[in-house]
Amino acid sequence: MPATQTRAEPSLEEPRNAEPAGGKPISAADLLTWYDRHRRALPWRARPGEAADPYRVWLSEIMLQQTTVMAVKPYFERFLTRFPTVEALAAAPSEEVMNAWAGLGYYSRARNLHACAKAVVAEHGGRFPDTEDGLRALPGIGAYTAGAIAAIAFDRVAAAVDGNVERVMTRLHAIAEPMPKAKAAVREATLALVPPDRPGDFAQALMDLGATICTPKRPACALCPWMSLCAARRAGEAELYPVKAPKKTRETRRGAAFVVERADGAILLRTRAPEGLLGGMAEPPGSAWSVDWVPSQAILDAPLDARWKRLDGVVRHVFTHFTLEASVLHARVAAGTAAPDGMRFTPREAISQEPLPSVMKKILAHALGEALFAPTPAGAGRGRASKEPGDGEAPAPVRKRRGRAA
Ligand code: SF4
Repeated sequence: MPATQTRAEPSLEEPRNAEPAGGKPISAADLLTWYDRHRRALPWRARPGEAADPYRVWLSEIMLQQTTVMAVKPYFERFLTRFPTVEALAAAPSEEVMNAWAGLGYYSRARNLHACAKAVVAEHGGRFPDTEDGLRALPGIGAYTAGAIAAIAFDRVAAAVDGNVERVMTRLHAIAEPMPKAKAAVREATLALVPPDRPGDFAQALMDLGATICTPKRPACALCPWMSLCAARRAGEAELYPVKAPKKTRETRRGAAFVVERADGAILLRTRAPEGLLGGMAEPPGSAWSVDWVPSQAILDAPLDARWKRLDGVVRHVFTHFTLEASVLHARVAAGTAAPDGMRFTPREAISQEPLPSVMKKILAHALGEALFAPTPAGAGRGRASKEPGDGEAPAPVRKRRGRAA
């Protein structure tokens, strides 16, 4: 069956881990030969013969969690410029770190990143631990990241299993058990292949294979070093792996956001609670978000008395576990208006200095126009909300900008 043909489920006729025709075992050497010719040049990756820098490896691995290489590259470069060492990152104010991260999404990663840098400096003298266990004890480092850093930065025999590796391994061995239940089998299969002499290169080779050849759709099996050994390819079923458990539907939560413009151009903002979703980030004041919120109750959460106008449309943003539909209310207030307790008026020209996540930029742009985030000489290089990945990696278009009177 051609790889593009779809079937509801992979065939189970072929036994798992079947010996390929000819009896040749799957070996890391084939993959490493391919990697030596086709490895990707990435800003955080050591060149052949160079020692890997644990700080760069760690920083890139945290940034790459849930985010694409293309999206991470400019953030990585900017981070290194601003925080060239783990000591510099540890010593930076948290607002500066959150600001440098704004737009990458999944903001708990940024908080953990900062906490991890502080722990490495305070508890390890600025040197990252060189074992999986030592790395896992640090904030924000889970099983995958510990395995990746241990292998890539310290050449430890470790399995770094992310989504790309899961795809390659489930196809290679035709693992028909649905994810995430198959994680243990995938990890075991990966670990069995790690060569003791080049664990770091093997980890990166698997990542490259998954990212460039063994892609979710239409894998380029003809270019794959394991083509003749791959059980899923031999069955013509590559695209059916990894098998996924049925998806739960993502609920929609709704709420209000209040955009207040003072006569001098300043905009009312506040800082979210340090823990939880978008913790520590800046936002215009708003209501709680819930599935049963209705627009008629919006005004109850207004931060101050004003002539509110409810704008047409909603700002839609996809988070990992739910979709937000925010109704936006806008008001103008007099020049001398003081900010309510716990809030601040930020001058318009300083808005790009605020750690605003993508969803909040979309809300402000909905009310005030996209030009609010246009690059300026002072903020050159900072992206607009609509060009950055959101917390759910699926920035949704703003439906309509300005609206009618409520
Ligand atoms: S042969 Fe195809 S499906 Fe199998 S590992 Fe290689 S690219 Fe993936």
